[in-house]
Amino acid sequence: MESQVFIALGSNLGDRDLNLLRAVAEIGRLPGSRVTALSGFYETAAVGEVEQPDFVNAVLRLETSLTPRQLLTGLQRIESAVFRRVRTVRRGPRTIDLDILFYGDLTISEEDLIIPHPLLHERRFVLQPMAEIAPDFIHPLLGMTIAWLLANLTGKERVTRI
Ligand code: ADP
Ligand code: MG
Repeated sequence: MESQVFIALGSNLGDRDLNLLRAVAEIGRLPGSRVTALSGFYETAAVGEVEQPDFVNAVLRLETSLTPRQLLTGLQRIESAVFRRVRTVRRGPRTIDLDILFYGDLTISEEDLIIPHPLLHERRFVLQPMAEIAPDFIHPLLGMTIAWLLANLTGKERVTRI
C-alpha cells in the first residue's frame, strides 16, 4: 500500500540550493517511492542556541510503499552516505537535514521516531513551504490544517521565498 508522506529538507552548509536539489533526487530514488510535489525554497535565519549560517528549507510530498522505519533509515543513509553528514552538535550546522513531518494520518511515538514531527506546528520554515503544496492537509493530532497553523503562528521568524 502506498502512503502519502511529507518530508522537510534543510541545509546551511556548502551550496545549500544544490544540496536540497540533490537530496530531492536521492529521495526520489528510494525503493517504491516517488516525489509528487516540491515547494519553493525558503531562506530562514537559524533559531536556537547555536550561532550558525542561515538555512535554506523546503518540503516535498512523497508517495511511498516504504514503512516509516524503512523511510527513516533511507533518509539517514542519504544524510550520511551522500552528504557525509557527521552528527556533532545537535541542531548545529549541516549540509542536509531530512525530517519526516507526516506519514499519512499515522502517529508514531518511539524514542528515535516521532511522527508527526513534534515541533513542526511551531516552525514557520516548515509550515510556509508545506502550505504551498498541501494547505488543506490536516494535522492528525491537532485537527487543524497547515494553512490554519501557519496563519495562527505567533513567532516572528524571518522566512523568505527565494
Ligand atoms: P534534528 O533534531 O536537528 O533534526 P538530527 O537530524 O540529528 O537532529 O535528528 C536526531 C534524531 O531525530 C534522529 O536520530 C532520529 O532518530 C530522530 N527522529 C525522531 N523523529 C524523527 C522524524 N520524524 N524524522 C526524522 N528524524 C526523527
Ligand atoms: Mg533531522
